[in-house]
Amino acid sequence: MQTERLLNTFLSYAQIGSESTHEGAVAARIAEDLRAAGCQVSVDESGARTGSETGNLYCTLPGNAPGEPILLAAHMDTVVPGAGVKPVLQDGIIRSGGDTVLGGDDKSGVAAIVEVLRTVVEEGLPHPTIEAVFTVCEEIGLLGSQNLDYGRITAKKAAVLDGDGDAGRIIIGAPGQDKLEATITGRRAHAGVAPEEGISAIQVAAEAISRMKLLRIDGETTANVGAISAQYATNIVPEVLTLAAEARSRDSGKLDRQSGHMVDCLRSACEKYGAKLDVSLTRAYDAFSYGEDDPFVREVVAACHRAGLEPQLDVTGGGSDANNMNAHGIKALVLSTGMAKVHTVEEELEVRNLENTARLVLALVTGQGA
Ligand SMILES: [Zn+2]
Repeated sequence: MQTERLLNTFLSYAQIGSESTHEGAVAARIAEDLRAAGCQVSVDESGARTGSETGNLYCTLPGNAPGEPILLAAHMDTVVPGAGVKPVLQDGIIRSGGDTVLGGDDKSGVAAIVEVLRTVVEEGLPHPTIEAVFTVCEEIGLLGSQNLDYGRITAKKAAVLDGDGDAGRIIIGAPGQDKLEATITGRRAHAGVAPEEGISAIQVAAEAISRMKLLRIDGETTANVGAISAQYATNIVPEVLTLAAEARSRDSGKLDRQSGHMVDCLRSACEKYGAKLDVSLTRAYDAFSYGEDDPFVREVVAACHRAGLEPQLDVTGGGSDANNMNAHGIKALVLSTGMAKVHTVEEELEVRNLENTARLVLALVTGQGA
């Protein structure tokens, strides 16, 4: 492994802006680097469905040793503001120039995977078939992994390099998420002259929301109303209101119950006041959860030890490409890369963590120390 090259790869990818849907330039650069390293590279046709200027990027390095194929994954897109990133390295920590995110989320993962692939080829290390995917549009709803061409992937286990916290943190469980969108239609009336003829959509929504269990429901379940929209003059009884909410749980039964409860609150308030309810409830992605004794979890834990890292098993409240992969029959865990203060212009990445991430992945794919 060449730590200097790893750092330079990260710094150069970070400078290629790739806000969600604008991943074309960075994808071209990653593909070029992977081909030069001796990997087979292809791109899918998902752009029309994700809205990205490129598809997801796939890479295969055929195995030269026995073992089940393994998939490595990271996303190419960043949140905004992510154009014109000028990374600054100081005292072992990389930050942006202060006016953009750094994009360590998730170029730390991308750079680590590229360095691992380069290293196994150059050093002729034994490895099973290694597949890698670099997705688009993760930050705007996991769209890339939702539209992956899963037929191109043979691996049944995956390390998704997209977690915050120090290298060695392994995410073995994450919630599924439901999206709820509702429109409440009451009846418009003059608020001063004939209020009894009106049905206030705002009043209906207020009553529904006041009855909802929200925020922290239990250790693995959360819920939140994020948007309410209705704008009328004060002399008009408001007719139409739209609302957007979410629920998450690592337990799919609890998720069904929480989402059902929120819909029930809306429905009963609408019935009480005679308002009409249009509601759509969609499962954005499914939950996943593995135990400490799961064979792949043990494999990653063992790789941590070989790489000199203290493994730390954890669960998260957020979603990632791993959720979609798990829903498609690939056992996917999320590995932390050291990215910190993500989605802010104070985002940072310790060089030590970047190197440790690559060491861990190298140990995982080769079954050796690193
Ligand atoms: Zn990410």
